[in-house]
Formats: sequence, structure tokens, C-alpha cells
Amino acid sequence: MNTPIETGPAGSGQVVDRVRDGMRGIGVGSVAIDVVPLGERRGLPPVGEEWSMAVARALAEGRPIIITIDGPAGTGKTAVAQRLAKRLGLSILDTGAMYRAAALVAIEQGIGIGEPGRIVDAVSRCGLRVEFGDDPPTIHASGRDVSDRIREHDVTQLVAPVSAIVPLRDLMISMQRQIATEHPRLVTEGRDQGTEVFPYAAVKFFLTASSEVRALRRAAQIKKKTGVTPNLEELRKEIEIRDEIDRNKPRGALKPAVDSIIVDTSRMDEDAVVGELQKLAMAAVAAMLDGRKQRA
Ligand code: C5P
Repeated sequence: MNTPIETGPAGSGQVVDRVRDGMRGIGVGSVAIDVVPLGERRGLPPVGEEWSMAVARALAEGRPIIITIDGPAGTGKTAVAQRLAKRLGLSILDTGAMYRAAALVAIEQGIGIGEPGRIVDAVSRCGLRVEFGDDPPTIHASGRDVSDRIREHDVTQLVAPVSAIVPLRDLMISMQRQIATEHPRLVTEGRDQGTEVFPYAAVKFFLTASSEVRALRRAAQIKKKTGVTPNLEELRKEIEIRDEIDRNKPRGALKPAVDSIIVDTSRMDEDAVVGELQKLAMAAVAAMLDGRKQRA
């Protein structure tokens, strides 16, 4: 059963105006402002007791703390979302992993992309679930932990077309909303979390970076993991093809929500991104509790 997520409508922009003083790299709506130059390191902001009290108060008032982080591959979303969730004491949901698990099920059951109905059927029967007892949470399908397997190249190549299947998106969206009812303090990352899945999230972020920078980051990850230096140009093309499919999906297209905060991470390191998102999220939740964001 899906209980609707009830939070106030996100982002009047006021919150951002208030906390943006002295910050660069943060944009609102569809405008991305300048970037925080590397080297401008002020350390991660403290979290403190006030935050725990704010979370407790929000939950007591029946307002879930849902923070969405959307954006294309290679913007550092997953790592940033995990660190942000940990710092703020929230659960983390990687929705890309759910779509990857669906693509893996199709591969393992030998179902081609030309048979979308069979893919949806197989995914709905495969026991797909996220194990929140693990840190970070693991993803399980067909009776086993597939968290590592879903990062392999065959899955990466198939996941964008599989995730374009509309009934599959319906299935995933209802699972994601159900997860949020069970974990009402949640950082959730993907492509459509702020636009489609949690339109009333307390805070919405959209991370961007140039495809060159994203290819470089992916290459560094692959080198670290496998010792092999991948072809940068090929990686960049793969990223751009995946972006193109993601941007043109009939449902859940890759685009910022109108009320999202856009962060261009091209010239930011991970600490800087986590620090800025943390400050913005804390300020937005405080503003929500102050009543500046009215409930829907
Ligand atoms: O985030 P990650 O790169 O692991 O996501 C893999 C793919 O899953 C994306 O390229 C996109 O096609 C799809 N996806 C999606 N909606 C989401 C998350 C991921 O369509 N919310």
C-alpha cells in the first residue's frame, strides 16, 4: 500500500536566498550560478543537537524529512548522497541501483529490450528489495545480494533503455514511496526523485557537471577498481548517450524540478559539495519548521 508522502511544497527560493550569502556554485531553479573554486575549503559545517531536535520535531508533526538528489551520471551524486545522509543521520536510497537490478534480472533471464512486458513481469517477481540493515544499504534480487554485480558494464549499457519502460517506472516509484513511508528520514538519489516521486520533498537538489569532467571521474573510479585506464573519449560518449536516453524518457526524464537547487560540481571537490548541501538542507528544514514553507 502506498501512503502518500506529505510534506510542504518545496523551495520558495527564500531559504536559498538566506543561506546563499557567501556561497558560490549554487543555483536555484534552472539557473546555475558560478562555482565554488577548488581550494575554498571551509571544512564541513557542524551538525549539532539543533538538527536532531529539528528532525524529531518534523517527524512528530507528521512531516517526513525527504531530501532528493537528482542529476546525470558522474556528478558524484551517490557518494555525496551517502555522506550527506550519514552526517544528517538519515537513511539513504540509491534508486539507480534499483533500475540496475531490474536490468540485471532481464540479462539473467535472457529477456531482450524488445519484450518490455516480460521484463516488468520478471522484475515484479524477482523479490527486489533494499536491505537497510547494511551500511550502505545493499540491493537484493533473485534471492541474492547483487550490489556489486549491477555495477558491471553489461548492466550499465542496458539500464537506460530498461528504465525507460513506463510500467517498470510505475513499479519502482511505488516501491520508492513505500520505502519512504518506512524510512521517513531519507536522502534519495536518482533522476526523477524531485520531479516525479517526491514532488513535496523538503529539499531538492540537482547536481550537474560537464561531460568531460564526468568522464574523468568515471575513469578514475574504474582505474581505482580495476587498475585499467579506460579510453576517456569512449567513456564520454557513453555518458552522453545515457544522458540523451535519460533526458528523453516519456516518464521520469532527467531534468531539474522547477523548485530544485542546481549545483554545478565541475570544479568542486566532494567535501565542498557535501558541505554546501548540508548547509542548504539544514536551513531548508529549519525554514519548513518555521512555517515559511506552508503544507500542501
Ligand atoms: O545512478 P545510476 O547511474 O546508477 O543510474 C543508472 C540508470 O538508471 C540511469 O542512467 C538511468 O537510466 C536510470 N535511473 C532512472 N531513474 C532513477 C535512477 C536511475 O531512470 N531515479
